[in-house]
Amino acid sequence: MARISADFYTINPINPRNPRLKNVMTNSAPENIKFCSHCGAPLITRQVGDKLRRACPDCGFVHFTDPKVGVGVLLVQNGKILLIQRGAEPERGKWSIPAGYLDAGEDPRVTAVREAAEETGLEVAIERLVDVFSNPPGQGGASIFLLFEVRLVGGTIQAGDDAAAVGFFSPDDLPEIAFASTREAITLLIHA
Ligand SMILES: [Zn+2]
Repeated sequence: MARISADFYTINPINPRNPRLKNVMTNSAPENIKFCSHCGAPLITRQVGDKLRRACPDCGFVHFTDPKVGVGVLLVQNGKILLIQRGAEPERGKWSIPAGYLDAGEDPRVTAVREAAEETGLEVAIERLVDVFSNPPGQGGASIFLLFEVRLVGGTIQAGDDAAAVGFFSPDDLPEIAFASTREAITLLIHA
């Protein structure tokens, strides 16, 4: 499972008290969606409900751009946070929390446990949902990001998948963190 490779959890919690909360405008009718995935006919742009959509004039299919969902794992042991070193671009060599994309049909809690196992070798169990983050679409990351706090239940720490290394870090001695938004998230989490 590929790691989320972009700025995937800009702090923009779905929380009306957060001043950074904003409605992200997105293109509801992306021109790069050219052909009907059902019948192959060229798509047109037309009004569907309250938005413009790419739609098929032949079979009536309407293309809806679905949000991409990512999940991340927050594991704190003895006051230290579990981080993985990115083995792939962008931000290769920098550190982030274990995370990945949700597969269609997969329970996000299962995804979180699986990503932790693949990237860190550790067996974890879900404790709670920390928060839901919303990102502008089209930036290459997850538009919806679910962060789960987990507890350690087993396994042996070992970097896997496209994680180059894995380790626990004290909040006051963090390695170079990938992505400004991730640094901000970790800082907020540590001081929460
Ligand atoms: Zn069609």
